[in-house]
Amino acid sequence: MVNLRDLTQQELESFLESLGHPAYRGRQVYRWVFARRISRLEDMTNLPVSLRRDLSELAGIQTPAVAAVSPRAPDGTRKYLFEFQDGYRVESVFLPGSSNQTVCISTQVGCTLNCVFCATGRMGFYRNLTAGEMVSQVLEIEREEKAAVSNVVFMGMGEPFYNFDAVMKAVQLFADPAGIGLSPRRITVSTIGIVPAIRRIAREGMSAKLAVSLHATDDDRRSRIVPVNRKYPLDPLMKALRAYAHVARYAVTFEYILIKNLNDRPEDAAALPNLLRNIPAKINLIRLHPTDSNLEPSPEERVDAFLKELRDAGLDVTLRASRGLECQAACGQLAAQEPTREKSVKVPQPGRD
Ligand code: SAH
Repeated sequence: MVNLRDLTQQELESFLESLGHPAYRGRQVYRWVFARRISRLEDMTNLPVSLRRDLSELAGIQTPAVAAVSPRAPDGTRKYLFEFQDGYRVESVFLPGSSNQTVCISTQVGCTLNCVFCATGRMGFYRNLTAGEMVSQVLEIEREEKAAVSNVVFMGMGEPFYNFDAVMKAVQLFADPAGIGLSPRRITVSTIGIVPAIRRIAREGMSAKLAVSLHATDDDRRSRIVPVNRKYPLDPLMKALRAYAHVARYAVTFEYILIKNLNDRPEDAAALPNLLRNIPAKINLIRLHPTDSNLEPSPEERVDAFLKELRDAGLDVTLRASRGLECQAACGQLAAQEPTREKSVKVPQPGRD
């Protein structure tokens, strides 16, 4: 069964042509699915019944079920647990603002990276999501919240650049003015720093903004908390980012979780300007959110001092608000309790590394 939420406008045109219908019918279907955001073929009221019948034999609009919703945090943040047709589950977070409505989406069921501070790694890795499954997290939250989402961040469960093609297709679907129609600068893809993928976007470009989870300024410390740093150490990572900076339309955001006595020392702050040289960069400091790791968050006065040290060094730095802590929806806290409802049959898959 083809999921219509997986197809670009061009792919829908070819699909309709393969069924013996003119290409413009593909454009009409595309508008219904992505611009009008319908979830049932019957809602495509300007299409002939025969076309809808042909379509329904091969295709449908697959919508994940809302398996659970957290209580709403005081600032409106809510966490959703979605379940796809094969039983796999991911979490997504709705973050309402005064002018922006943001959704944080997952790209994989689980994660292969095993960063020590993050809960997602503990659940293992099960499978990649399709582009349509990423898009659906946003469209279903829009429907539940009766809100028009303005911003999408690929910062939920999984490593986007280990699911490269589907993530790039989802970016394309979100940014298409004829479809969902988000502004590309309101779409952010966050990566741990998969060097071949960054080399690829340096060659091919990427319309969304890029964020990189840096978290340390030397390989020894970074490898202790981010195991994939052994495969992709800082030197090749920063070289790839310098190459990307030449073609990037926006500054690269560097995420940096402040961990007590590990990466919050004055010498870490002092090392950052040189590490980020020649890259138009923003630094986003993040407080360590509680998971079951032994790491401790930096004390508040250290957070303030670190922020000031970076500002004084001339860097563009902000401190990320820790939203969603009340409902275990904050960064690093996403982990479906059961990745699938049929847990006896599904086992974690070996990772890519
Ligand atoms: N794999 C991608 C996408 C996940 S993004 C990446 O690593 O960028 C999730 C963001 O939340 C990252 O910046 C990550 O470092 C951060 N994060 C993970 N665990 C956290 C924790 N316990 N406290 C605060 N931030 C955390």
